[in-house]
Amino acid sequence: MQPDVIVVGGGIIGASCAVSLQQAGMRTLLIEAAQPGCGITAAGMGHLVALDESVQELDLCLFSLKLWRDWVDQHPGIGQVVQTGTLWVAENDAQLIEAQQRAERLNQRQWQAEVIRPEDLSQLEPALRQGLAGAVRVTGDSVVYPPVIAYRMAHDLVQLGGQLLCGQRVNSLRQGSGSSVSVMLDDDRQFSAQHVVVAAGLGTTTLLPEIPVFPRKGHLAITDRYPGRLRHQIVSMDYGQHNMTEDGLSVAANVQPRATGQWLIGSSRQDGQSDTQVSPVAIGAVLQSAIRLLPCLATMHVIRSWAGMRPASPDGQPMIGAHPHRPGVWIATGHEGLGVTTALATADMLTSQLLGKTTAIDAAPYTPSRFFNGVTGR
Ligand SMILES: Cc1cc2nc3c(=O)[nH]c(=O)nc-3n(C[C@H](O)[C@H](O)[C@H](O)COP(=O)(O)OP(=O)(O)OC[C@H]3O[C@@H](n4cnc5c(N)ncnc54)[C@H](O)[C@@H]3O)c2cc1C
Repeated sequence: MQPDVIVVGGGIIGASCAVSLQQAGMRTLLIEAAQPGCGITAAGMGHLVALDESVQELDLCLFSLKLWRDWVDQHPGIGQVVQTGTLWVAENDAQLIEAQQRAERLNQRQWQAEVIRPEDLSQLEPALRQGLAGAVRVTGDSVVYPPVIAYRMAHDLVQLGGQLLCGQRVNSLRQGSGSSVSVMLDDDRQFSAQHVVVAAGLGTTTLLPEIPVFPRKGHLAITDRYPGRLRHQIVSMDYGQHNMTEDGLSVAANVQPRATGQWLIGSSRQDGQSDTQVSPVAIGAVLQSAIRLLPCLATMHVIRSWAGMRPASPDGQPMIGAHPHRPGVWIATGHEGLGVTTALATADMLTSQLLGKTTAIDAAPYTPSRFFNGVTGR
């Protein structure tokens, strides 16, 4: 059966888009080079977070977080979901002021956040060091295990009547006859559809070199199991501020209690890196920044460290929408460190655009055409 739409890439973004399109009545074929969720989706942290570095970012996060609530209700027991909330920890008065402002911004959007005084912090989270300036607690944030969720979404697609092709790499796209687009596989098979959604993460540039998505390396480590010792996701107020060292490395503590009792410790950001080798300097800096907030980590057993490449875009916002110069080709990539959080909003926005419907939130900040400035093929 010929599909109406082909989605290339079964990470959290492609899998979300495929399910959403199939639910909207489009016969959907999802093609994944390996297994759903095994790309960057398996290398990140899985914090579902209301991040507010810009109004657009917060819009996308809040819309997606509401969709995540429904997803979790409909999939009980899937994806190691823990409603941890987030404690944004301030180490000095300047950070505390920023934390208070964050709480106000979130409250204005009916997203619950409260300022925590230093004397209440140790009761709320005894593992935190003494002497912190305070924190903001955001109760609606949670943590999930993303690869399991992407895998489940691919399964849901098939249950809904869609098609899934795993272990098959798309090596090129071609404009077909009429208004169709064809995808060519490594084994020389070819599939055509009216629409092709490229959600291949960093693999997008192999198919569409003009799409400006690039790798931003991040280091993580995970401990042995210590159940019950940490309740909230702990994030430094430094997070997202990109305070860089000379070699472009920026680090901010981000410690996540997993459903398994493990502590997942992040994270760093570094551009211009070409491999996922673990750098002792970077992972050392990540651990040091986490230990500064949670001293007991120094005596805990870290069992694994790794690095992953976030698919980033030049302006920090994802690309969601039509390719400006290739009719029938759609893009969903460049979500950097928020791809899990914003996956469901991405899928909803892309589906609405593809069906010619009004999007739930303004799609203009995410349109891929913003990087093309009217130049054909960029
Ligand atoms: C260190 C780190 C921490 C992070 N923490 C968080 C967090 O706490 N919260 C959050 O929201 N986000 C976080 N992220 C970001 C998040 O993980 C990513 O934004 C998200 O996983 C990107 O998903 P994706 O589907 O675009 O990419 P991927 O997961 O990489 O999926 C792309 C898929 O496409 C497939 N593919 C590629 N090329 C082809 C081809 N030619 N043919 C067929 N298939 C192809 C690949 O096999 C892959 O499965 C983090 C990322 C990192 C690295």
